[in-house]
Amino acid sequence: MKYQGSCHCGQVKFVAKGELTEALSCNCSICQKKGSLLWFLPSNQVKVSLETPEVLANYTFNKHVINHHFCKNCGIHPYAQGIDAEGNSIFAINVRCIDDIDLDKIKINYFDGRSV
Ligand SMILES: [Zn+2]
Repeated sequence: MKYQGSCHCGQVKFVAKGELTEALSCNCSICQKKGSLLWFLPSNQVKVSLETPEVLANYTFNKHVINHHFCKNCGIHPYAQGIDAEGNSIFAINVRCIDDIDLDKIKINYFDGRSV
């Protein structure tokens, strides 16, 4: 399956390939404030297209190992990028930014990121 998504204004777009059946709801300091639902997948299954390279901003905190990307124009966070425990480059897609997604069809797993 291919899933298309974007920020609110459409200047940051992505296509993610894979089977989306579950998403992660995390209560860590940033996920709780963003309200994002995350889908993790290898970076080679995600293609990003930007209206201009300058539109994409990056926010990091704590250990600065996760790049929380967001659109400078509309402020929406469509995805984050990082390295997993095995050293692989991965994306965390914000499932809420996928076009026409029916969130009721996706199993939500709750993760206590605040206690990690
Ligand atoms: Zn935008």
